[in-house]
Amino acid sequence: MSLQSQMLQVLGDRQTSRISFSFSGSTGLNIEVKPSSFLRVGEAIRGERITVSEGGVPPGTAQYDSEWNVFRVARGQEWSRAYNALLVHEAVHAAFDLARSRLPWLDNETAAYIAQGYYLRNSGFPRSRLDELGQPYLGLLLVDSIIRDGSPDSELMQELQGTLLSSPQYHHYIRREFIGDG
Ligand SMILES: [Zn+2]
Repeated sequence: MSLQSQMLQVLGDRQTSRISFSFSGSTGLNIEVKPSSFLRVGEAIRGERITVSEGGVPPGTAQYDSEWNVFRVARGQEWSRAYNALLVHEAVHAAFDLARSRLPWLDNETAAYIAQGYYLRNSGFPRSRLDELGQPYLGLLLVDSIIRDGSPDSELMQELQGTLLSSPQYHHYIRREFIGDG
């Protein structure tokens, strides 16, 4: 199967199509991720406005590059529920880019981790295998709170955003604004 069709399969699968949530972002803006967000990314891949390429990222990782409109997946990567969830994370960044959204990177990453957690939850990924300190795990716990209370738990939200703000991985852009350019 080509990378492109593998990506389309993840974007269209049952786990992804049941991802839907919103939260109030750090500037008060309503941040929304809906099934249609992923369908639009799929359409853009079919229309070759977004491409999928192999390599250029470390093993086990993936990236959406909003400048070149390309998903980069790790070379020789074995696709699994955990990796699919990561691709869904990257697809959230792609969806904001396509929609020409302007939002703080902090909110963009928060939405991506909640979506990643949502995919893990929908696919029945064993919680015991998630690093309890990791951001995807916090994303999954936020999904639990959204399903339970209708909105994300504010303490968990602060915890997730605290890890993003303090991590060297995000240091160079997390306090900036994301500007989607389609
Ligand atoms: Zn991200």
